[in-house]
Parts: sequence; structure tokens; C-alpha cells
Amino acid sequence: MHEFVSVEEARAMILASMPVLAVERVPLSECLGRTLAEKVVSREAIPPFDNSAMDGYAVRIADLEDLPAQLRIAGVIHAGSYSDEPLHPGSCVGIMTGAPIPPGADTVVPVEWTKIETDGYVTITRRPQPEQHVRRAGTDVRMGATLFEPGDMVTPPAVGMLAATGYVEVAVRVRPRVAIVATGDELVGPGEPLGPGQIRNSNGPALAAQAISAGAVVGSPLVARDEPADIRAVLERALEADVIVLSGGVSVGEHDFVKQVLDEMGMELLFWKVRQRPGKPLAFGILDEKPVFGLPGNPVSSAVCFEQYVRPALARMMGRTNVVSERHTALLSTPIQKAAGLYHFVRGHAFVDEQAVLRVRDTGPQASNVYSSVVQANCLIHLPEEIENPRTGTPVGIEWLRW
Ligand code: AMP
Ligand code: MG
Repeated sequence: MHEFVSVEEARAMILASMPVLAVERVPLSECLGRTLAEKVVSREAIPPFDNSAMDGYAVRIADLEDLPAQLRIAGVIHAGSYSDEPLHPGSCVGIMTGAPIPPGADTVVPVEWTKIETDGYVTITRRPQPEQHVRRAGTDVRMGATLFEPGDMVTPPAVGMLAATGYVEVAVRVRPRVAIVATGDELVGPGEPLGPGQIRNSNGPALAAQAISAGAVVGSPLVARDEPADIRAVLERALEADVIVLSGGVSVGEHDFVKQVLDEMGMELLFWKVRQRPGKPLAFGILDEKPVFGLPGNPVSSAVCFEQYVRPALARMMGRTNVVSERHTALLSTPIQKAAGLYHFVRGHAFVDEQAVLRVRDTGPQASNVYSSVVQANCLIHLPEEIENPRTGTPVGIEWLRW
């Protein structure tokens, strides 16, 4: 067991011990946010045929040497219909956006560049470039082109691309089932009155929401008293899931029994305590081959530890290639007090100033119980261990909180 590890060591140990879940085939309507388990190759070209980008007339550019040019209108093609009649010299075809270009035509003249005449002829007043307003088959996506690699996440435009290229279903990783266990004698369930010394269990619902937003399936909420027997009974139920996320009871208080119980149940503890703030007492281990996260009970610590460690871990279980969120550089718009030693995750609000510079400020008091500053944050400011009292203007790494 490692004690008091760095943020990077903690994340590396967690990611290295994540099992990758099974593959299932799901319809497109269910694949959003999932991770592709196979390479996806286009089965159809986009567009599937040469078509018009404008409402106008399909012409042969050779007929527009001298302007204005009068062309005979041989017919009209709407989107959804087609004509295999070749275009004869001196004639054109009325064509709507998305309609197939008839054989022989090479250019589309927008209707705004024409004058309509009554007896089946149109006058073209401006000459387009050859090929202008013609969308050739396969110019967006070639048939057989690689669209996605295994490990890519399915985004809304990916759903559109899969639909456009003929997919009905795709192979993705199953969603991890996550058990959220809140521990603490002081916790009161939803709808119950608050007695003396009691607080509401907010971590349970918040962590469940975070897990769902990470693509997991969350079981019914579990709460354990600060008694070893109760913690054990609840953990036994939690083991039905693929991942267990506990909140509270991992510090050094007299009633912090979580680690002791997990030890008695045979969990291999990989690390306890990380050189970070918030979330120093974070514990992580493997019980019955299942990852177990012991998050500190303070609501900010639990929220931040979820984002830093559990979210990437769930992404890895789902086979995602990029699991650690991107970092951007912003300039501090206020100084931050920080001693060297611990890695700080500061709840921040990033914004672009009038000079188009990305700046960031903290969202107020940073104690690990002040949850309102999590709600106001749109990013986390990363201040590595060695950073000391960064001043206004210091470039810092930020990570967007995309919830
Ligand atoms: P612990 O990690 O158990 O020592 O708890 C640290 C702090 O977090 C204490 O103030 C707890 O009351 C609080 N806390 C623990 N669990 C929860 C929870 N589920 N919801 C809200 N606050 C909690
Ligand atoms: Mg507690």
C-alpha cells in the first residue's frame, strides 16, 4: 500500500487497475456518450450522388460563353426525384437544392442569376465558375473512409455521421454499474426532517448525478451508519455493481470505519491519502476485482475527487482512449493563497476579457465544505505541489467542468 502519493501517482495507479468492460451492439438511439468498441468505416458515400447546392438551373458551362445566354428548359428535378435524360447543348434543367445533377450538366446557375421567360426558355445573366454549386458524390465522406476508431466517444454529430453513412447499430462498451454508498450517522434521507446535529445526505445524490453524467448506470442509493457491521452489510450489496464509490469515513476520525471494514473484507488497498487539497484522505483499492473509491465526506472533496479520479476511471472502463480532461492556460485575475506542498484544485470561474485573453478567478472561499463555490465554478484551477502564492497574471492550468 502506498501512502500520501502524488496526484499523478494516484491517477496512474487507478487507471492501471481499471478493467475494460464487455462489448454490446446498440441502436443509434442508445449510443450517445458510449465508447465505440470497433473501428467504424463509412458504408456509404456522402453525398451519395452528385447534387445541387442551390435552387437554380443545371447547365453545361460551355453554353455560357456569351452572356446573356438563352437556354431551353428541358424539365425540373426536385430533391428526391432524378432524371437520367442527358442534357443537350443549349438546354438546361430547373434543379432544386439536393436534387441529382442530370448527366451532361456540370454547373448550377442560382435562380438569382437568371431571368425567367414564358415560352420554356430562361436567360442566364451571370456566369458561374465551372462546377460551381455542384456537390460531387463522396466529397464529404468517401465510401470506406475511416470515421471513428475504437475508444472514440459517440458525440451528437457522431450519431449524425453514423446515420448518414448507413449505420443502424454500433458496437460499444457496456455502461459501468456504479454503487454509491454514503456513510455517516449524521445523514438524513430526502424528505426527512433535520434533527439536532443532522445534515442532509447531499453526496449520495450529487455523486450519482456525476456518475450518470459520466455515462454510468447508478443503482439505488445506499447509506451506511458509522458502524462496522452496517458498513459491511451495505458494501456486500454494493458489490453487485462494477464500481463502488463511498463517501465519508475514510479520514482518521474515531468513527471512520470504512477502511477497516474494507480491509476485513479482503480489499487490496492500493493507496490512501493523496498530496492534494481538497480530498487528501482519498482511498482506492480493489475488492473482489472491483475498483473501490473511498472519497472523503466533505462535499467539495467528494465532488472534486470524483471529477479527478472516478470520471476518468469510468471512461477507461468504457474503453475510452482519452480519459484525462484537457488542460488550458488562463491568467489569474486574482492572487491565490497557497503554500507549497500539496496540489490544489481551486474552484474557478474562467472568462475571456475584452482583449480576448482567457482569465480565471477563484469562486470564493475554498474550504472543502463550501459547496456553493462548486456550483458557481465552470472550471478547476490546477496548482501543482510546488506552486506558492500565485499572483495576478500568473498563467495557470484550468480544466473545464462540463456539467
Ligand atoms: P467524513 O469524511 O466522514 O469525516 O466527513 C467529512 C465531512 O463531510 C463531515 O462534515 C460530514 O458531515 C460531511 N459529509 C459526510 N458525508 C456526507 C454526505 N453524504 N453528504 C453531505 N455531507 C457529508
Ligand atoms: Mg463521517
